[in-house]
Amino acid sequence: HAPIHIVGAGLAGSEAAWQLVSRGIPVVLHEMRPKRGTEAHKTGGFAELVCSNSFRSDDHENNAVGLLHEEMRRAGSLIMASADANKVPAGGALAVDRDGFSDKITATLRAHPLVTVAEGEVDGLPPEDWGDAIVSTGPLTSPALADAIRATTGAASLAFFDAIAPIVHFDSIDMDKAWFQSRYDKPGPGGTGADYINCPLDRDEYEAFIDALLAGDKTEFKDFEKTPYFDGCLPIEVMAERGRETLRHGPMKPVGLTNPRNPTVKSYAIVQLRQDNALGTLYNMVGFQTKLKYGAQVDIFRMIPGLERAEFARLGGLHRNTYLDSPRLLDPVLRLKAAPRLRFAGQVTGCEGYVESASIGLLAGRFAAAERLGNAAVPPPPTTALGALLGHITGGHISAETEGAPRSFQPMNVNFGLFPPVEIPREPDRRLRGNEKTIAKRQAICRRALADLAVWLG
Ligand code: FAD
Repeated sequence: HAPIHIVGAGLAGSEAAWQLVSRGIPVVLHEMRPKRGTEAHKTGGFAELVCSNSFRSDDHENNAVGLLHEEMRRAGSLIMASADANKVPAGGALAVDRDGFSDKITATLRAHPLVTVAEGEVDGLPPEDWGDAIVSTGPLTSPALADAIRATTGAASLAFFDAIAPIVHFDSIDMDKAWFQSRYDKPGPGGTGADYINCPLDRDEYEAFIDALLAGDKTEFKDFEKTPYFDGCLPIEVMAERGRETLRHGPMKPVGLTNPRNPTVKSYAIVQLRQDNALGTLYNMVGFQTKLKYGAQVDIFRMIPGLERAEFARLGGLHRNTYLDSPRLLDPVLRLKAAPRLRFAGQVTGCEGYVESASIGLLAGRFAAAERLGNAAVPPPPTTALGALLGHITGGHISAETEGAPRSFQPMNVNFGLFPPVEIPREPDRRLRGNEKTIAKRQAICRRALADLAVWLG
């Protein structure tokens, strides 16, 4: 076999390489470190963890990322094998000794007879004569390569900054207080005129909310992130600092909306949430990107009427992150539609997190291997964590072109909102209460996932 070139030996690239060589296919693994660094990496090792040493929950019966761990183990993941071998005590979480973790992956790949390591930056798209390639250069993709990707995919297709509004699980929103309506009942493309969920605030509630925003704990930008704010993605706390009324004239403006429970009184301010996935299980808070610390976000957003019990699929943030508009650009098996010899993998495809990035590397490696061996690349079922996350990246997402949001595809961690709903059998003698029902549903999703994964793994 001719080798497959992989650009970037991070979490995704290392896993993709392992999946390929495990199937007898040679790879050339290109890595620019240590010759050229990034703003966050410190070593020359493969799969360096740039920040926390945690892979989050390892509970595969109740937790979506724990489930993803287990699916990856069953699919023969090198990243998971190295994490398990370098575990440090962390309660129910899987945390690792970061040096041991990276050393094992580096040593395993460097020693493998089918791996050739090419040191140095790849400063453009992989050239034609390399044939098939996987680009897994991560959130800090070097500028030269990012420019080349952008030249191929179009300027709007590659984001350099991640301005993330919080995303809420629909079933945690109190619809006795909130209601569905689009501003001026205007149907957006494909919409009905009732596409948004609206949460009303009266004057006292608004003033208390602004006070909390101004007082809330904020994260500081790292030096390399000191980028001027883009239009349309100012953090809400920065808007509040500019004037107490700013938000009421911006993302919290109440015009064109009527509270059906109180139609004669105008709301003082309104927070809107927009459907975020095709299943309708997730809603994002429109215009609510923020640099508040996570704990402060939960406390402050739960002050909003209707969101008192909100569960967040992800919290807001703003940081440097290079990622593609994948739902538009990539096919279901991660190939660039415009140039199918190129696959993308890892965080640059719009997943978020160490485990998620590695898992998309795992899929890219398996897909490339299947094709090279003359088989069809078959995506995992959407009921598995691997399939649910892949669905978020390649298609399940709604690209709402409404309300000044030119693109709304945002990187995301794996979470239960990405899975198709599951029916749980009724208990004959009693009804399950709210929390029991949530737990039962999660457990049913996990059981279904592992059963369906076994079929996919064949
Ligand atoms: P990476 O692991 O970054 O791998 C990409 C590799 O490509 C790197 O080794 C890089 O040197 C190389 N490369 C880049 N450009 C080129 C080029 N042109 N030629 C050759 N090589 C190239 N996730 C978490 O789960 N927990 C955290 O605590 C966390 N903290 C983060 C902190 C920061 C500052 C950042 C930026 C991200 C963080 N993430 C975190 C998100 C994400 O999980 C990691 O960035 C993860 O490493 C992404 O995996 P990846 O394989 O896609 O990219």
